[in-house]
Amino acid sequence: MSKEKSNEIPAFASIQNYINGNFHNPIQDHWIDNYNPSNGEIYGQIPNSSKEDVENAYIAAKSAFPVWSQTTLEERSRILIQISELLEANLQRFAEAESKDNGKPISLAKAIDIPRAASNFRFFGNAITQFASESHESVGQQAVNYTLRQPIGVVGCISPWNLPLYLFTWKIAPAIAAGNCVVAKPSEITPMTAYLLGEICTEAGLPKGVLNIVHGLGTTTGQAIIEHQDIKAISFTGGTATGAHIARVAAPMFKKLSLELGGKNPNIIFADCDYEDMLDTTVRSSFANQGQICLCGSRIFVEASIYEKFKKDFVEKIKDLKVGHPSEASTNIGALVSKPHLEKVKDYIEIAKAEKGIVLCGGNQVTVKGYENGYYLEPTVIEVPNDECRVNQEEIFGPIVTIMPFNTEDEVLQMANKVKYGLSATLWTNNLKRTMRMSHQLQAGIVWVNTWMMRDLRTPFGGVKASGVGREGGFEALRFFTEAKNVCIKY
Ligand code: NDP
Repeated sequence: MSKEKSNEIPAFASIQNYINGNFHNPIQDHWIDNYNPSNGEIYGQIPNSSKEDVENAYIAAKSAFPVWSQTTLEERSRILIQISELLEANLQRFAEAESKDNGKPISLAKAIDIPRAASNFRFFGNAITQFASESHESVGQQAVNYTLRQPIGVVGCISPWNLPLYLFTWKIAPAIAAGNCVVAKPSEITPMTAYLLGEICTEAGLPKGVLNIVHGLGTTTGQAIIEHQDIKAISFTGGTATGAHIARVAAPMFKKLSLELGGKNPNIIFADCDYEDMLDTTVRSSFANQGQICLCGSRIFVEASIYEKFKKDFVEKIKDLKVGHPSEASTNIGALVSKPHLEKVKDYIEIAKAEKGIVLCGGNQVTVKGYENGYYLEPTVIEVPNDECRVNQEEIFGPIVTIMPFNTEDEVLQMANKVKYGLSATLWTNNLKRTMRMSHQLQAGIVWVNTWMMRDLRTPFGGVKASGVGREGGFEALRFFTEAKNVCIKY
């Protein structure tokens, strides 16, 4: 696979579990249909893995752990960087697979998702060689303390469907860099690039059993991972309800948990911002990936003095966005990930109308010629009568944003914080004092000022309140995937 393969994913593409460096059918021979969201057709099958498959993955990981955890940092780093390079060399193939599985425009997969997945391996391959531990001299007691950062053992990584390879590798890369072995489950709805990653890992020389990928339903395969007595840490990204369930299952076993959950992020626009920059970025932060990014600014609050102008300009720009087949270069908005998700998102448009929301643009399912059964929806802007209506409080996770005006800083701060979530917030202003006041008071794990989704992999990533527990990114991720042990030596 070192040279890029130009062949497309075959029309009917079934996949297998990747266990102990080899591909296997599920033991019970149960399978799940995989749909292509752009045309609504089944294009493959994936294993519906049972507890026994998870157990086999665990056994492989456990066997690999003693050697991998003792492999030098330079060697681990070399292999991770090799995986990164192979992903880059196979960009087109991975982008096609991601787009076909998820419905996202191929241009987005090619420019963002796959390159970022490659960056995850490169970043953590380098970071592990710089991961220093602390030492403390106990002055006057003739003793020195130092902190060991030891790998945990076998860890579980479970990821969602919206940024399939990016979020999958965001967990796997730090886990294996830190010397753990992994049992991982991607979303059952978007398993294809995780499957292809297995081939890449083998080619890069990752020892057998270090990474094991088991496909299947959350309620069976995922459940078997979180219930496993000897999988000592779970890194999970997904919905808040699933996160709460995982916390309940994991707590009695004292597993380490990192939970990256839902969001309902405010995008707060003051009149003194750089207007054009704000407008263009707000289009992106509202509808990138069909609005299916946990960081999307789905609640837009605009200072009253520029509200009418913003409303007009924003709606005009949204009307220009092209909904189309994900493989077409001109497409801005691809397909939503699945039929049930499309129906859920559409329901929210009706809920908004019932709550006296005004649909300023969009609101309709779209029929794309030649792909009549695909899951397409117009980007939709809803003017809401107040911040407490359901569309302003509940995570929709689709191409819908709400807008409403505000008058004062205090008022908008209260509205921004008055949701159960606290993942990210965006602030548009050129007023330094206001920037500082608001950034410090917004209840969110990440605040962007005059930008959106600018990522630096060294920074902590995660949410507060119902958006999660713990932080990923940079050394935070390496801390999560290691146990700290203090050694105290009297001399
Ligand atoms: P889900 O919570 O439905 O699923 C996430 C993953 O968990 C999937 O692999 C799923 O499997 C699995 N799962 C489901 N039930 C269980 C279980 N009982 N035990 C173990 N695993 C289980 O989320 P979605 O896939 O629908 O993703 C969308 C959600 O993810 C949104 O709420 C979004 O905000 C959030 N998200 C958060 C991010 C963050 O960084 N905070 C980033 C991206 C998304 P299966 O696919 O088979 O159901």
